Amino acid sequence: MIKTINECVGCHSELGCAGSSCLHSNVPHTFCDNCKDESVVYSFPDDDVQLCEKCIELELDAEWKQLSFKEKCEYFGVKEIDI
Ligand SMILES: [Zn+2]
Ligand SMILES: [Zn+2]
Repeated sequence: MIKTINECVGCHSELGCAGSSCLHSNVPHTFCDNCKDESVVYSFPDDDVQLCEKCIELELDAEWKQLSFKEKCEYFGVKEIDI
C-alpha cells in the first residue's frame, strides 16, 4: 500500500512552513500488504495487492509450483531429446 506520511517537523518558521502544502507533509511511502514492512513493493498485473520482494517471491514460488512440467520446460526451452 502507499501511505502518505506527514514528515513535517515544524519547518523553520522563518522560511515559512506552508502547512498542508508543506513539501514534507505528504511524503509517499510504500508498505508491504502482507508483512507491513516499509519497502519497495511489487504487484501482479491484475491484482492490487502490493508485496515486498520477500513476500512476492513466496507468491511467485507458489505460482511456479502450479505450473505443469510442460509449462516449466517451455519457460526454459527444455526439450525432450529425440534419438
Ligand atoms: Zn513543514
Ligand atoms: Zn512483505
